[in-house]
Amino acid sequence: MKIRVRFAPSPTGHLHIGGLRTALFNYLFAKKEKGAFILRIEDTDEERSTQESVNAIYDGMIWAGLNWDEGPMPDGSIKGDYAPYYQAARSDAGIYQKYIDQLLAEGKAYKCYCTPKELEDMRAQAIAEKRPPRYDGRCSRLTLEQQKELEAQGRRPVIRFKMPKEGETVFNDLIRGEVRFANKDLYDLVIQKTGGYPTYNFAAVIDDHLMEMSHIIRGDDHISNTPMQIRIYEALGWKHPIMAHLSMIHGPDGTKLSKRHGDTSVIEYKKQGYLPQALINYLALLGWSTPDSQQIFAPGELEEKFDIRGCQKSPAVFDPVKLLWMNGDYMRRMTIDELYAAAKPFIDETGVAQGVDEEYLKKIILLEQEKYKTLKEIPELISFFFTDKVVFDEAAIEKVFKAETASLALKSVIAKYEALADFTEFPIEAATKEAAKENGLKNGQVFHPVRVAVSGRTNGPTLFKMLEYMGKDMVLKRLEAALELCSK
Ligand code: GLU
Repeated sequence: MKIRVRFAPSPTGHLHIGGLRTALFNYLFAKKEKGAFILRIEDTDEERSTQESVNAIYDGMIWAGLNWDEGPMPDGSIKGDYAPYYQAARSDAGIYQKYIDQLLAEGKAYKCYCTPKELEDMRAQAIAEKRPPRYDGRCSRLTLEQQKELEAQGRRPVIRFKMPKEGETVFNDLIRGEVRFANKDLYDLVIQKTGGYPTYNFAAVIDDHLMEMSHIIRGDDHISNTPMQIRIYEALGWKHPIMAHLSMIHGPDGTKLSKRHGDTSVIEYKKQGYLPQALINYLALLGWSTPDSQQIFAPGELEEKFDIRGCQKSPAVFDPVKLLWMNGDYMRRMTIDELYAAAKPFIDETGVAQGVDEEYLKKIILLEQEKYKTLKEIPELISFFFTDKVVFDEAAIEKVFKAETASLALKSVIAKYEALADFTEFPIEAATKEAAKENGLKNGQVFHPVRVAVSGRTNGPTLFKMLEYMGKDMVLKRLEAALELCSK
């Protein structure tokens, strides 16, 4: 069997974390099985679909490295033999109409003329009578005469599919195993709207069949659609693809993932300084694991190890703290060239290191590689290297400069540093310790004021390396300015 899977977003907003996870699992499955990963745009909701959203989907997927083998391309070109890949265009090309006509002719679908008001009344009555609020099928019994009459009144029909009401619809899900639905819970769903566009459930079936999908991998929120889709496949005499429904994603509080849990757009994660490879690694573990619960995957490893049998049924929990940790972990594993390239846009955006020599900037970035959690925090953490005037943290002044020994400490290191010919890490350390010893101070009583004097902060990179990188002139200038401040 040729493996073909698709990601089929509705372009009605940004690409979110949940959508990216669905795309990722399809992508990984395709890679693992040496199949094709297809992007299809489900834009049949005319009011809510926008090209802007399609662009946001492209941006998110490309940033995350989920390149698709077939589908529309951001430059307007098309890849693959099953075009169009936009459902609106497919509708305009008459692709769905053909099957609508077939189902109507075979009596498997019917025209429904009910107005929104009538449907609402029907619902209200059903609820009042404690019946499930479903369409009662009344238009399926209209005679041709009656249909003509309604049309003469100016009513335009939608098309409904006749669902079976008895028995069961059963399918095997790769993740959930055997899934059974009682047909009495199905309803005659609308498959074509008055405007002529198909609805999601119908268009998805037609396209998944015509585009020869072997597997449908999507979120569990679609599982109640699946029995209805299976009935449509059957009505058309088609075999349905193999189904796999991914567990839902919950927030740490156990409720469905929402914005307040961090379910924002994928591009927002980019803006916040996450690495795409870290986000992808994290998302891969949302509902999937290897038998040995591997956490970090080398480039290309997910594509090799992904196995849909490792997907869980129970909801996965999105944990922003773990994601942040993982991002930091990825940042620590980067070479300095990789880290520099990733951090550069964030640094440039703030303008903190304008005109700074690249090799020097790399050294500075490297100083705190161990601590970074996101790319976005780098400019702020390194900014004091490049300012003309140190900005002092109020708390640091309070805590360190107000100590009686601060002036003495600064005065003595200034003298020591001035005399230092080799202004590098170890000689600086030795000189600083000597200054402490000669004045009867503890090391900390000297180290802390020096750190605050040159950086304005109480913490930062390892002290003596930081001084070496700043260079003697800058260090002395800053120490003197701090001494003046201390004496005030
Ligand atoms: N357009 C649907 C969605 O975005 C696709 C669902 C499916 O994969 O069948 O939810």
